[in-house]
Amino acid sequence: MKTAVFSARRYDKTMLARANATAGHELRFLEDRLTAASAPLAAGCEAVCVFVNDTVDAEVLAILAGQGTRLVATRSTGYNHIDAAAAARFGIAVVRVTDYSPHSVAEFAVGLLLAVNRKIARASVRTREGNFDLDGLMGFDLHGKTVGVIGTGKIGTIFARIMSGFGCTVLGYDRYPSAAFEALGGRYVPVDELLASSDVVSLHCPLTEETRHIVNAESLARAKRGSVLVNTSRGGLVDTEAATAALKTGQLGGLAIDVYEQEASLFFQDLSSTIICDDVIQRLVSFPNVIVTGHQAFFTEEAIGQIMQTTIDSITAFERGEELVNRIPKSS
Ligand code: NAD
Repeated sequence: MKTAVFSARRYDKTMLARANATAGHELRFLEDRLTAASAPLAAGCEAVCVFVNDTVDAEVLAILAGQGTRLVATRSTGYNHIDAAAAARFGIAVVRVTDYSPHSVAEFAVGLLLAVNRKIARASVRTREGNFDLDGLMGFDLHGKTVGVIGTGKIGTIFARIMSGFGCTVLGYDRYPSAAFEALGGRYVPVDELLASSDVVSLHCPLTEETRHIVNAESLARAKRGSVLVNTSRGGLVDTEAATAALKTGQLGGLAIDVYEQEASLFFQDLSSTIICDDVIQRLVSFPNVIVTGHQAFFTEEAIGQIMQTTIDSITAFERGEELVNRIPKSS
């Protein structure tokens, strides 16, 4: 099936082509992000393959539908970038990747927590310059601390298990409590209690209208003073300006983020030779107790291999008229 692959980086091309070796779909790799302006590049493609910072709103879907697209396959779990209701109106099926190594993200969240708490990135920069001073690098033991997990699905539960292994008390908040989370010793509490009691809060729920800015000025004011916030889920969960203000007063003791609300115009590209006009992110990266990575939590060989294989399998299933097991609901 003719498939336009937007936001295609080198690794997307290699890994997707590998997964496609036997399926034989005709892949048109495009480095552009999908927007209303770039949508005509998919003309004649029945399938369009996208990633998290592509725009798949009603305007773009209308253009795609008019050009003959009948399937949108996102190479991600989250699908907040897709207007699923509009897709249904235009008769476009939408599939995502539900099952790929949740360990990739959970392990990265732990890595970010250790990096920000123990100042590992700062220390590495120092030693490269021959500075072996420890001043400013003190962290705290995770053992014995309380870790709050918001969203105890696949990734949140694995993160909770790892933190439990560190000797932490694990609290959880989720609309749908899971037995697996409780089986590892996690205890569900209301979100306010989680924020007030946790030394570390890690976000693992999807971005929906309900969860947008779940971390905001009010919730940060109710959080335990000096707590550390980790976000590997979606940037829109955090009101970044409120987090910046809380960092300035010390109410927030540290921030480790792999996702950022305005990441679409920044992430997945090398901007090191340009002037970055986003003052919010530039201010954030200047804090000594903040670590920012560019949406790489999923980026392991295992996860990418599974993402690409599932995406190709979904396209093949669609072509054959088979059931789409990873189809997303009509509205999020
Ligand atoms: P999942 O569906 O297994 O778990 C999500 C959990 O959030 C579920 O238990 C659900 O009940 C809960 N939830 C939904 N709405 C909620 C609400 N209003 N309040 C509290 N909890 C709520 O998903 P997952 O595979 O664990 O992925 C979690 C998120 O991680 C994804 O939605 C995605 O945004 C993010 N993610 C990020 C990366 C990355 O590279 N940074 C990669 C994959 C996924």
